[in-house]
Amino acid sequence: MKIIIIGAGPGGYETALLAAKRGVETVIIESGPVGGTCLNEGCIPTKAFCKNAEYIDQLHESEAYGVGKIDFTLDFQSVIERKNTVVEQLKSGVESLLSHKLINLVRGRAFFKDQHTVTVVSDSGSEDFTADYIIIATGSVSASLPVPGADLPGILTSREILDIDHIPQRLCVIGGGVIGLEFASIFRSFGSEVNVIEYCKDILPRFDSDLAKRLKQSLGKRGIEISTQSQVLSIALNGNEYEVNFSRKGKEERVVADKVLMAVGRRAALNSLNFTEVGIETHARGVKVNDFMQTNIPHIYAIGDINGLMMLAHAATFQGIVALDHIMGIQNEIDLNVMPAAVFTSPEAASVGMTEDECKEKGIAVKCLKSFFRANGKAVTMGETDGFCKVVVASQAKEGDMQLFPEGQILGCHLYGPHSSDIIQEACAMISRKATLSEFQDVIHTHPTLTEVLQSAIHG
Ligand SMILES: Cc1cc2nc3c(=O)[nH]c(=O)nc-3n(C[C@H](O)[C@H](O)[C@H](O)COP(=O)(O)OP(=O)(O)OC[C@H]3O[C@@H](n4cnc5c(N)ncnc54)[C@H](O)[C@@H]3O)c2cc1C
Repeated sequence: MKIIIIGAGPGGYETALLAAKRGVETVIIESGPVGGTCLNEGCIPTKAFCKNAEYIDQLHESEAYGVGKIDFTLDFQSVIERKNTVVEQLKSGVESLLSHKLINLVRGRAFFKDQHTVTVVSDSGSEDFTADYIIIATGSVSASLPVPGADLPGILTSREILDIDHIPQRLCVIGGGVIGLEFASIFRSFGSEVNVIEYCKDILPRFDSDLAKRLKQSLGKRGIEISTQSQVLSIALNGNEYEVNFSRKGKEERVVADKVLMAVGRRAALNSLNFTEVGIETHARGVKVNDFMQTNIPHIYAIGDINGLMMLAHAATFQGIVALDHIMGIQNEIDLNVMPAAVFTSPEAASVGMTEDECKEKGIAVKCLKSFFRANGKAVTMGETDGFCKVVVASQAKEGDMQLFPEGQILGCHLYGPHSSDIIQEACAMISRKATLSEFQDVIHTHPTLTEVLQSAIHG
């Protein structure tokens, strides 16, 4: 058997490595650097910045830790260089993994010649490849707003802001989703005055509303101005200043900034290949797939951001496993609905499974158990007590209603506070194994650790 994978992001390259491990010959085609958005302009560079931001915050708070005031000047060029070094290190790691004898990494831009042939065009010419199966993993691109001024020179996307040559004094972030808030939090720590403009009722529209409200307050305390229910109407450039005009509850308002970051989400890269010409069905969100990531053409699969199901690096990787298992006739127990997500703001937030609101909408009887970081010994020692943990558990359905989940089954977990992105993993393990409260209660947690916040919530 032979497989062609188009795109070497976390969807494509991880699938190629697994295929090779299983003895399958794979051609992986990449038009840019290996690692895709995640490694080159997404997860990794932003998290390198997050570390700098955390370090800077701690230096500012040195007196609170009893070590006196520490004077320092931020060398932003070094911050950028450190980020680039981190990316290069990981990229060379991926390149070396892809040098496996069963993997042929082809550099160039791919397009479908027909349903069985992929042509790769590069500086050295063009070449056709055929295989039994083709996996598309060509990712997504930044979206923009259809408003006057959105295409003004100097309006940044998440890609450009990673290589900005100075810290803007005033940064306006359009979009209070995960990417927008991460940059808002980072640049606030770097010293910018930050305004976030969000269209929806709350920041992080897909997250638990309780969590979103509290995280908004928390970011507000750090000086990040967040305007929700605000629709951007236009952007203008006056000299060196951008003026972002928006309407909030019927009133027109404006933010003046030195830089504007457009962070209104991402869309599947539907023009990355000639999908329609070869008959691959798409819809507004991306390439249409079934539960096995199979397109309408049975030997062609689409994984990761390109199918628009869940734009996360680990989602891309696990969808790749699902696709490969399906190709190879291997059964697995992967539940792609139990997909953890983290927001690397300060403090962090994370979520997995169903929210309380979602359960209400679906008529699922639940109870919510909560605990707070301020009562967690480790968080107090760290001086990071802002945050909570909320666990959503199936309760007894009202008379006449269907009991959709066994009473006590853990359905969701939502938290914000230090290291939420790590803590969520334990809840994820429990939810994916359909564990109940009593099963969780038997698990011993090390003391003093932040994971005890989960234990405290579970014990009510
Ligand atoms: C700023 C930012 C921060 C993020 N942070 C996180 C995070 O913390 N955690 C998380 O889980 N996710 C995060 N994401 C999302 C994550 O980066 C994506 O979900 C993930 O990269 C998707 O993986 P993928 O393999 O589907 O596509 P990609 O990583 O986009 O890879 C697609 C690859 O296909 C190549 N390609 C496209 N067309 C062709 C063609 N015709 N021929 C050959 N090659 C082609 C591209 O060059 C690219 O390398 C972040 C994204 C951004 C923008």
